[in-house]
Amino acid sequence: MIRINENYLNLQASYLFSTIAKRVSEFQGCHPDTEILRLGIGDATRALPKACIEAFHAAIDEMAADATFRGYGPEQGYAFLRESIAENDFQTCGVDIAADEIFISDGAKCDTGNFQEILSTDISVAIPDPVYPVYVDTNVMAGRTGDFEGGRYRNIVYLECTEDNGFIPDLPKKPVDLIYLCFPNNPTGATITHDQLAPWVDFARENRALILFDAAYEAFIRDDSLPHSIYEIPGAREVAVEFRSFSKTAGFTGTRCAFTVVPKECMAFDSHGNRQSLHALWNRRHSTKFNGVSYPVQRAAAAIYTDAGKQQVREIIAGYMKNADRIRREMDDLGFSCVGGVNSPYIWINVKQDSWKFFDTLLTQTGVVCTPGGGFGVCGDQYVRLSAFNSFENVEKAMKQIKNIR
Ligand code: PLP
Repeated sequence: MIRINENYLNLQASYLFSTIAKRVSEFQGCHPDTEILRLGIGDATRALPKACIEAFHAAIDEMAADATFRGYGPEQGYAFLRESIAENDFQTCGVDIAADEIFISDGAKCDTGNFQEILSTDISVAIPDPVYPVYVDTNVMAGRTGDFEGGRYRNIVYLECTEDNGFIPDLPKKPVDLIYLCFPNNPTGATITHDQLAPWVDFARENRALILFDAAYEAFIRDDSLPHSIYEIPGAREVAVEFRSFSKTAGFTGTRCAFTVVPKECMAFDSHGNRQSLHALWNRRHSTKFNGVSYPVQRAAAAIYTDAGKQQVREIIAGYMKNADRIRREMDDLGFSCVGGVNSPYIWINVKQDSWKFFDTLLTQTGVVCTPGGGFGVCGDQYVRLSAFNSFENVEKAMKQIKNIR
């Protein structure tokens, strides 16, 4: 008899985006003349940079001729892209990462979700609350989390991110084996300093733990004093894996290209306490289950690192950050306490009431759609997330509408 992985039965249905869509469409049905302004979106809205499009076209043309056609590429990614990343994202910033420590993939969602697969199922896991839900759900699928009781999984160590700790979680009170961190954060938009990140690296080293550091929003950091990579922290090469993505940086959400950094010193342990290379294990997993990102997409991604590409990416990010500034200013003026929107595209707003209740009020009184924070974890219950991924025109309209909220 064929049987299922029963851990899947322990997954909680994710009603967040489907419930939002349902409530918006019901409201729109009753109020067809109200303009709906969607500030809940976590998806890029601006076109790919011109440099990427040109490289994309040129690579497609190469595929059109036998002499330049490419079939299967290296599973880890083409050297031209891995070398550009190593040089531009790490080495020129004084961070010691080599091209062969970079694994190109089709998304940070897949990588953050898949990486836990090479780790034992009986390790303890610490996950932030609120959180990007992929970290939780993939650990549920692997059977690490225990039962769901009172809104939380019994065996997860929740790292609470609240106003009291400035949305930077405190270190766990007891040793844990696997730690997820994400900065700049989705959904809070909070960022972390060197001094705040260093204790996590020390904690991981002391406890022989591993940090999975999601830096998908790294490109939005404008404050030069903030770390762009966990590898700016001494010792991190031994205990951290970093995930990056071109999705939000350059509009690759639909095109799909990202990468994961696994330094050669990064180790985990077998049941005898022997050190095992995570680089070797991930390489094995990646090359067994993944067959590489398409050649034209990798060429398009590599164009981000040309002079023209860098300039165009800067302009795209500046556009989103202009939106973030506008939203943040309006929220401050309206007297809301908020975080984010300064070095990240998300603004996390304390609405001091049930987040779904506020969602309904905002929608019905103004036509503006936000994302209720309760969908990201218990600690998000009194918050909503606004996103800067939109046109300035729409943001401006939404901010004018929001003033009318009673
Ligand atoms: N990590 C975080 C924190 C995200 O918010 C997202 C997307 O919203 C991703 C990863 C997914 O990135 P990708 O599009 O590369 O799969």
